[in-house]
Amino acid sequence: MICERCKADVTEDEIVDHGSQQVCEDCAMTLMSPSKACDPWAVKMASSSIGSKEDAVKALKEPELSLYNLVISKGRVPREEIAPKLGLEASELERAFSVLRHMELLRGEKRADNGVDILPFDK
Ligand SMILES: [Zn+2]
Repeated sequence: MICERCKADVTEDEIVDHGSQQVCEDCAMTLMSPSKACDPWAVKMASSSIGSKEDAVKALKEPELSLYNLVISKGRVPREEIAPKLGLEASELERAFSVLRHMELLRGEKRADNGVDILPFDK
């Protein structure tokens, strides 16, 4: 299935109906979040023409940088453990993750217990 918003290729059970659109869980989260209104930083990061992954990482700011470093150092982190670890609100974490996911630095993977682990995009 292709998310109609970010065009990510996700599995069928990650697709959520949002009005007339079928979007991935991250986009659904973003669309439903009150903080989505105007976030130039996220939009810039997600749509920027930053070339290599190294350049992208160098351009990261907080809280994306902390999130990225945490996941890279651990290899895999349960999503629900991240916000308290980094001292972030759940909505801040979702936004940071959404940026990193669209930059193809991190991705989520559903666990057997229906939770989600965050791991490096290329793992
Ligand atoms: Zn999406």
